[in-house]
Amino acid sequence: EGQIRIENLRKTFDNGEIIACDDVNIKTEGGEFVVLVGPSGCGKTTTLRCIAGLEEPDEGKILVDGEDVTGKKSKDRDLAFVFQSIALFPHMTVRKNMRFGLDMKTDLPKSEKNQRVEEAAETLGIEETLDRKPSALSGGQQQRVSLGRAMVMEPAAFLLDEPFSALDANLRDHMRVEVKKIQRRLDTAMVFVTHDQEEAMTLGDKIVVMDDGYVQQIGTPYDIYNEPKNRFVADFIGSPSPNLIDCTVEETSEGVAFVSDFCTIPATDEQAEAVRERGDETVVYGVRPEYLNIREEGGHFVAQLDVIEPLGDRDAVHISSGGTPLSAVTPQGEVSKDRETVNVQIRTDESWLFDEEGDRIV
Ligand code: ADP
Ligand code: MG
Repeated sequence: EGQIRIENLRKTFDNGEIIACDDVNIKTEGGEFVVLVGPSGCGKTTTLRCIAGLEEPDEGKILVDGEDVTGKKSKDRDLAFVFQSIALFPHMTVRKNMRFGLDMKTDLPKSEKNQRVEEAAETLGIEETLDRKPSALSGGQQQRVSLGRAMVMEPAAFLLDEPFSALDANLRDHMRVEVKKIQRRLDTAMVFVTHDQEEAMTLGDKIVVMDDGYVQQIGTPYDIYNEPKNRFVADFIGSPSPNLIDCTVEETSEGVAFVSDFCTIPATDEQAEAVRERGDETVVYGVRPEYLNIREEGGHFVAQLDVIEPLGDRDAVHISSGGTPLSAVTPQGEVSKDRETVNVQIRTDESWLFDEEGDRIV
């Protein structure tokens, strides 16, 4: 369980000079894994700290399981947090570290506390470390202890702020899967903050993309990836980044076309109808690298082959045309690095159009 609602949240610092977050509205279902993602400084931590009760909002409400907790102290909100820095007590054993929050709860019998610690340690696979000091543990084990410290509280929801950023890449991937499994098993809501779009995509049932203090889009990983609401979301999610091409809109003998420095792309029926109705003169044409198909001949334009970056089963093929850098993704080895030029066909049915403000047209 653990249903969190954020309504019209606004938090500023320095007498209103810095708007950390504004107009934030997020509704979660019970047991949902929600990820707040966005570049550094976009207001993720501030939003999370407002949910936690560590910051007092300027405006707005926080509800946990239907109860308005906005005026409540942090410790009375039934939420547990895990922060970026691990912050275990070095002089205490793992067992004592994990029991620390529980020991503040005087109404729980000691046997219950011990049992919760044992169970959490088992779930996290750190039973053997319980009587050791944190310094004798690896980074991954230490991060599990801090997770365990939150788990034993049996909160309505977990709040995690970039908990894996100090771990190396392999361990981070492993911990992601572990956390997702644990969250499934406990069926407790999680609000997880990260600046890493890949982490957001792999973890989130629901992703909240933020930029510059404002929520840009909320959706499932597929929604966010396939149907970005604006240029920022399109550009931020996915790697390599999508191709964003500045175009003018022109009426040709074959209908509407989008014309850039280096190519002319025919509009789909839906795109033609939309730009005619709106009267757009320019658009940004967006297409993901997997929808630039490399061909032997023909296609929409010819590009220079710059660099091929192996990604494993696929290659990122970096090309340029008319000085504009573009990327395609192809199956491994499909494009030889010895080629100087490639012909490129755009999957026009998979493209997006953005207007001058960056909002999605269609
Ligand atoms: P994120 O976690 O996405 O990196 P933060 O929520 O930490 O972003 O910060 C959002 C904005 O608010 C930033 O411009 C940051 O500098 C500012 N900010 C955060 N906390 C404070 C504070 N205590 N005092 C002043 N400015 C702050
Ligand atoms: Mg932060």
